[in-house]
Amino acid sequence: MSAGSYYDVLGVSRDAGQQEIKKAYRNLARKYHPDVCKEPDAEEKFKEINEAYSVLSDEQKKAQYDNIGHEAFTNASKGSYSGGGGYGGGFQADFSGFGDIFDTFFGGGGGGGPRGPKPGADLLLRMKISLRDAVFGVDREVEVYHSEACPDCDGTGSKTKKMRTCSKCGGSGQIRQVSQSIFGQFVRMSTCPSCNGRGKTPEEPCSKCGGSGHTRVKRKVTVHIPAGAYTGIRLRMEGYGEAGDYGAPVGDLYVEVLVEEHPKFVRTGDNLETEVKVTPAQAAVGSKVEVKTIDERTVELKIPAGIQHGTALRIPGEGVRRRGRPGDLLVRVRLVVPKKLSDEEKELYEKLLELEKKSSEKKGFFKDFVDKMRGGSEE
Ligand SMILES: [Zn+2]
Ligand SMILES: [Zn+2]
Repeated sequence: MSAGSYYDVLGVSRDAGQQEIKKAYRNLARKYHPDVCKEPDAEEKFKEINEAYSVLSDEQKKAQYDNIGHEAFTNASKGSYSGGGGYGGGFQADFSGFGDIFDTFFGGGGGGGPRGPKPGADLLLRMKISLRDAVFGVDREVEVYHSEACPDCDGTGSKTKKMRTCSKCGGSGQIRQVSQSIFGQFVRMSTCPSCNGRGKTPEEPCSKCGGSGHTRVKRKVTVHIPAGAYTGIRLRMEGYGEAGDYGAPVGDLYVEVLVEEHPKFVRTGDNLETEVKVTPAQAAVGSKVEVKTIDERTVELKIPAGIQHGTALRIPGEGVRRRGRPGDLLVRVRLVVPKKLSDEEKELYEKLLELEKKSSEKKGFFKDFVDKMRGGSEE
């Protein structure tokens, strides 16, 4: 639904600093807050502004967003404006509302009220994926259990699909409760219990949904997880949340990703890291070894002569398959000294040791070292 990038939504340039982003957000949020703004799409606009801000104000998310681009990022926003409606659904729903800034200038917890039809609640689904799937991206089919408009009555709750004005509240959706106290008469407005604030009741309640207009159904949904997804990213599936009141928007489904650890690969940003064991001979003279990639392919890696323990060698493009700019695979060399030697090997190592002794004596290695310690050597 978003018109453009989050930068466009806030009307700032791509290189805008945090101060500028914050300022732009405050101005727009004030302007489009649904309690203030009477434009018909104010709430949608307000939602977009909050979403854009929740990403751009967080350095880490902003960097990810700049990296994967708007399409793939698909709104990893934490906050979601609910229009004051209560959350609650089949899944956990723990959206934090609008975050700190908002609370300070709107007095917190505000918004909405029971006027008019209530929008559907958002749902949150947590999904574990393997590191390999995070590297390549994956399409996952999930089953969502949520409410939808009742097919028998088209969501009206009425068998005849016709509604009549609520007799209890006269169509306002609110009722006046008058109570007497020592200070005089008290008048309080509250949501009409007969029509739940809709102002209308079914002409004849639908027998399938009992007049609620909703039925609970299981739906299979394919979630597209982009390459580069990380733990904590939230993908929004628009319109897969709970049904709202008749005429109100449907909530969204958020899929929160958790990337599992891999026994052989560790991820840092877009790079993967693994290790390869190398013998002293391979390290000294140089060699070729085989390395398994995360998708189980075998790649040949050249070990240069004289490589040191702990050195990382780079295999380009074998990291996170970000489109246009994939990450690399870093292969850390682990020098492993053999614990058991064959007779022949032992003989050769001993011979090598002899050679090393001779050459160090010849070079005066030890003497040299002592001189250096005394600061007596001149280059
Ligand atoms: Zn009513
Ligand atoms: Zn129905």
